[in-house]
Amino acid sequence: MIVRIAKILEQPVCDNCLGRQFGQLLSGFSNAERGKILRSALAFAIDTNENPEVSAKIDMSNFHSYRFRFNKDIAKKTFEKKTCTICNGLFGRLDELSEKVAKKLSKQEFGTFLVGTKVSPGLLQKEEQLWEKAGIEFCEPLRAEVNREIGRRVEKILGKKADLKKPDIAVLLDLESGKISLQINSLYIFGCYQKLVRGIPQSKWGTPRKYNTSVEEIIGKPLLKAADGFDIKLHGSGREDIDALCIACRPFVLEVMKPKKRKIDLKKAEKMISGKKVRVKNLKIVGLDVVQKVKEAKPDKTYKAVVKLEREIKKSDLAKLKQLIGAIAQKTPKRVLHRRGNLLRKREVRDLKSRWLGKKKFELTVKTQAGLYIKELISGDEGRTRPSVSEVLGQKAVCEKLDVVKIERIKI
Ligand SMILES: [Zn+2]
Repeated sequence: MIVRIAKILEQPVCDNCLGRQFGQLLSGFSNAERGKILRSALAFAIDTNENPEVSAKIDMSNFHSYRFRFNKDIAKKTFEKKTCTICNGLFGRLDELSEKVAKKLSKQEFGTFLVGTKVSPGLLQKEEQLWEKAGIEFCEPLRAEVNREIGRRVEKILGKKADLKKPDIAVLLDLESGKISLQINSLYIFGCYQKLVRGIPQSKWGTPRKYNTSVEEIIGKPLLKAADGFDIKLHGSGREDIDALCIACRPFVLEVMKPKKRKIDLKKAEKMISGKKVRVKNLKIVGLDVVQKVKEAKPDKTYKAVVKLEREIKKSDLAKLKQLIGAIAQKTPKRVLHRRGNLLRKREVRDLKSRWLGKKKFELTVKTQAGLYIKELISGDEGRTRPSVSEVLGQKAVCEKLDVVKIERIKI
């Protein structure tokens, strides 16, 4: 151990850089404390003068604050202080750097943060050269120590918490240029919505211009304003067709990008959003993980459709529709082939009820596994969906009106 410390101190090295080489040994010490203890241990060894060959190579500027008394060669000598050749004095500037980071962060509203550093190639190289000399098995990388130490100081200055996993803001400090950049993570707001009018698409993108609004915009605009963000994106648990109502409450996460504010009056926002077209409820701030949960949840859905027939049927003919309960083989509908791959999927019809509305019209209430296209379950999509209402009744059937009436609860 003493030989190893002596090897490191063949060049001027500060306490942090010395202690960091043994950062994995003994908990409860900072690297600066480890370095101070190890330096002193070596000073004792030097003062005994038991091993002059080892001592001979040591850069004595490392001991500028020590007074030797037993070793005649160096007793009473003083040594000049030099800058650490590994970090080039970086650890002496941590307070100043932390102040800079805190100042930049203080202009934002956030709960948690994370500090990351970009280390210059020169600095990395010096660290690697030291590892070659002194071994790597107990060391901690320089960047890890800098991030932690600045993080601790910023926590104290701002009274905020560092969060390694889900920070609101990530700070990147470029040690070479001194530049500090902020990566502001999105704000995620979970809730569920109802769409109460036909003719509105769910998202503003990927739909023709003729729709001048969308569920995404109606929900997102007030939240974008409240959070003073850059843009929005709606992540829905599935989507209804543009011409369908969604009476059921559909879960979603609204993402606000680059928010300047994270504390939003969600009750007020619910009131602002909810109107004749769309209603929302249960808004709450969540983490990024909920986006995936909402996307991956495939809750069963219940639809109510008005089906129009080409030819007259008897009321008793509706009983045949029960045949549709079970597996449905469905090729990607022709109407969505331009944006989705041509796949054959199997989806279950869980339950089905019908109500006679006239000789050429009836109401169909159908509970299905997520992902089954209802319009095609009715029409048969020219044989691409089998079986279908058209097939069972032996004539052409079309969906005249479609509403989503129930979406099973999802766990978030
Ligand atoms: Zn250093």
